[in-house]
Amino acid sequence: MRVSASAAVPSHDCLLCPRLFAFREVQRAAHSEWFNAPVPSFGDDAAELLIVGLAPGLRGANRTGRPFTGDYAGGLLYQTLRKFGFSEGLYDARTDDGVVLRRARITNAVRCVPPQNKPEPGEIATCRRFLAAEITGLPKLRAILALGTIAHQAVLEALGLRRGHFPFAHGGLYRLSDSTLLADSYHCSRLNTNTGRLTVAMFESVFISLAPWLDQEAPRRSPITAAGGMGGPT
Ligand code: SF4
Repeated sequence: MRVSASAAVPSHDCLLCPRLFAFREVQRAAHSEWFNAPVPSFGDDAAELLIVGLAPGLRGANRTGRPFTGDYAGGLLYQTLRKFGFSEGLYDARTDDGVVLRRARITNAVRCVPPQNKPEPGEIATCRRFLAAEITGLPKLRAILALGTIAHQAVLEALGLRRGHFPFAHGGLYRLSDSTLLADSYHCSRLNTNTGRLTVAMFESVFISLAPWLDQEAPRRSPITAAGGMGGPT
């Protein structure tokens, strides 16, 4: 049964991860003007491309309430989405900047900001239900772009796939079913770009590699099987 993309979402006061709940409460007390809640996905309900990040940044999405909005990583991501035709409007690090995503949607493996930007394995597992609902609720989904190893693994686990069959690799493409690809990129974080681990060209190359797949006429969405879909990298 398909789940609506907007149906299976955490409540504003989700208590499922006690450590993250407590951290949110600290931030609410210190910064009452911030969002300080599970950050909802953003974008097109008819998305063909779902981008999955790790978790909200403290002064980014946790502050503004929109994924990748307000911190360094968002600059590169939204700039790239615009360049490849997935967004309209000029990103300005604010939720009222007028950016609209077309054929794309952004979410996080973990919806709440974790201390030191490091969710614990149990928190990733607990929030998986919302990632799974997000993926299954997108009827036109053709590709998932995982930003970093944790997002990659969270996607696999949300789909019931074995990690060992799909090792993370920047630029890697895995065919999960007749209709769905999984693509990997290093996370577009300040650390990764400042150290040269991820360049703008490297990030854009992932979108270039996805384009032929997304430009194909979409087949009827086929199930992703727990046995490992269509196997290894394309
Ligand atoms: S990380 Fe996810 S499951 Fe955990 S408290 Fe936040 S919304 Fe709830």
